[in-house]
Amino acid sequence: MITRFAPSPTGPLHLGHAFSAMTAFDLAKAAAGTFHLRIEDIDQCRSRPEWEDQIYEDLHWLGLKWPVPVVRQSERLPEYQSALQKLQGLGLTFACTCSRRDVAEAASAPQEGARIGPDGTIYPGTCKHADRATEGAAIRLHMDRAMALTGAIEWKEGDRSETRSTEEMINDIGDIVLARRDLGTSYHLSVVIDDGFQNIRDVVRGKDLQDATPIHVLLQRLLDLPTPVYCHHRLIRDENGKRLAKRDDARAIATYRADGATPEDIRRMVGL
Ligand code: GLU
Repeated sequence: MITRFAPSPTGPLHLGHAFSAMTAFDLAKAAAGTFHLRIEDIDQCRSRPEWEDQIYEDLHWLGLKWPVPVVRQSERLPEYQSALQKLQGLGLTFACTCSRRDVAEAASAPQEGARIGPDGTIYPGTCKHADRATEGAAIRLHMDRAMALTGAIEWKEGDRSETRSTEEMINDIGDIVLARRDLGTSYHLSVVIDDGFQNIRDVVRGKDLQDATPIHVLLQRLLDLPTPVYCHHRLIRDENGKRLAKRDDARAIATYRADGATPEDIRRMVGL
């Protein structure tokens, strides 16, 4: 078993992160496998070195161990570029100059009716046949061509088999962004390349990312990468039932530490 925890250094780790990291760590340990830490810092505007340092400190304090050096996504942009070029070479992408607002407006036109997918509003196709220059544009996946190549996709969620048909992928997910114009990559592309690179066999992460999984499995198929088994765990919520967020400093691991909590207390609090 090879698991990973892949936080973005954009704020303090909270109890939800602790639960996710400890679950992935415990599973690997019980199977005499490996637990990896990966820093997902492609968004250099939002990522901060001090948050990255805090991640190492909090996870060490919780008793977790991982191989070093850790993979940091900001150092792997050439790998994402070459994967993108491969998809471009297969004719599976198109350049898109729409802003978020353009997408929202086009999608909410009366004849369209905006629909929401894992990345927000499903792309209404504005630039799809416009043959835009790639310079300064976002790059999107041409979902119908991609699905024509792979056919229905399948993967394992725990013991259960999941599948998505071509129609479901086109209608419920659509032409997702592979490379943001400001980053040259995206969460989806980077996560798939790196799970492949680190040979992750079991992706253990929160249910908030479950809807992104078909996108990841499709990209694995297109890029000839193996598909891990996925396990999406429950989310840790506050007393009002709201999911914890990064800005929720009150539940930051560092705050509990400063208040004298022990790692065992944290385990108890998240129900481990
Ligand atoms: N970096 C993502 C996050 O912090 C998690 C990615 C993943 O587990 O697939 O939400």
